[in-house]
Amino acid sequence: MVEENEDRMQKIVAWAKRRAFVYQSAEIYGGTGGIYDFGPYGVELKRNLREFFWQRFVKSRDDIVGLDSGIIMKEAVWQASGHIGPGFADPLSECKKCHRRFRADEIASTQHPAPSTQLEAGSRKLIAGYKCPNCGGELTAPRMFNILVKTYLGPAEDTSSVAYLRGETAQGMFVNFKTILETTRVKIPFGIAQVGKAFRNEITPGNFIFRTREFEQGEIEWFIDPEDKKKSPDFWFETWANEWMQFFIDLGLDKKNLKFRPHKKEELAHYSKATTDVEYNFPFGWDELAGIANRTDFDLTNHEKKSGKDMKYFDEASKRKYIPYVIEPTMGIDRTILALMCDGYTEEKVKNETRVVFKINSTLAPVKAAILPLVKDKKLIKIAQKLYKEIKEAGVVVEYDESGTIGRRYRRQDEIGTPWCVTLDFDSLKDKKATIRDRDTLKQERVKIAEIKDWLVDELKC
Ligand code: ATP
Repeated sequence: MVEENEDRMQKIVAWAKRRAFVYQSAEIYGGTGGIYDFGPYGVELKRNLREFFWQRFVKSRDDIVGLDSGIIMKEAVWQASGHIGPGFADPLSECKKCHRRFRADEIASTQHPAPSTQLEAGSRKLIAGYKCPNCGGELTAPRMFNILVKTYLGPAEDTSSVAYLRGETAQGMFVNFKTILETTRVKIPFGIAQVGKAFRNEITPGNFIFRTREFEQGEIEWFIDPEDKKKSPDFWFETWANEWMQFFIDLGLDKKNLKFRPHKKEELAHYSKATTDVEYNFPFGWDELAGIANRTDFDLTNHEKKSGKDMKYFDEASKRKYIPYVIEPTMGIDRTILALMCDGYTEEKVKNETRVVFKINSTLAPVKAAILPLVKDKKLIKIAQKLYKEIKEAGVVVEYDESGTIGRRYRRQDEIGTPWCVTLDFDSLKDKKATIRDRDTLKQERVKIAEIKDWLVDELKC
């Protein structure tokens, strides 16, 4: 089973490259560890996923506003958020299995019986015999560790110009909280949503695009009144957990590959009172796809202290002034793409031949339709290109392909997940109809050429 899953993962990685979804970054120079590039089909898939997120959580709601904040943020932001500071300057070991990080003294206190190797606090040597206190996995050698990627602003690399690439999109939303209150008409409860890049200097990136150093998040910070008895923080936590799960189901992921995993008290992040992960059953096992956290008033309180700016909300009805609590649903865009790939990559036997199909929701599919003249005939090419142009001008991503056998062209489209192939043959010249082939059922239907564009646009609306 383990071997079978490894084999499946390898196939998915090879297919993702072969079919222009995901490439290793700077491969011509041997690749950059933990960084991937999205190729021509990958980028379409990613854009569709972002748009699905945006449509659902921003465009179709009145209580969430969008934001696109800067990627590089001042040191003060990360000091206030708790991402840099005294606690983050200790040498840490990371578990190679569950990826939690521990200080040497934390590890030592949990080892029963204690291994024979002497543990030196602050040592950078490998702690032979010590195991992960959380899952028993193997630990990396301890090292000074800061997850944030550091950079310098301005011409001189001195300390006054230190800044960091954001480790989560969340902080952009917290530092803009007050300005959004002042410049829009939002009222609690309300949310700020952001989709964008985040950077983490992961010690052990791996599992393809699952754990990378540059990735994208889709996050919402949902601001609430902690005193509201009817709609308490627990109520909103549960509401958002269910919303989040439904999002993944509506993306088309198989329900049986999704589950909640509530965090134990001792694994909660420094800012969280409660966290539940949404896990996906990847070929390498169940792991985090997304999360819902009750961040309380931790971030806004700390930004108020650090910046000296009032972060309170004034409730007109009750005349109360308070720092809101925050429920944060968050997800990894790249991890969701990996889940979609793992769920959708299918090998099927059709007439004794293996066909690889990427079974993906038509809303997310990178290419919606392919226009294929059966053979290279001038008259056929003419009507096929006319139809192709008409669909393209309607804003639908469509391909035109006249090269090779029809079987090979179908297979290529199946592999990139194109839901519909439209074939024009000699009958099309007489009856003005074309054959639409469905990617999953392989059913073929004759449809009037003049109606195909509207039919496609209509299918893609939902
Ligand atoms: P993990 O425990 O896997 O390191 P995390 O709990 O630190 O993740 P969060 O801080 O909650 O992750 O980030 C929100 C989401 O961002 C995660 O649910 C995940 O989908 C995504 N994410 C986090 N780190 C990475 C990474 N290194 N590569 C890709 N996606 C990531």
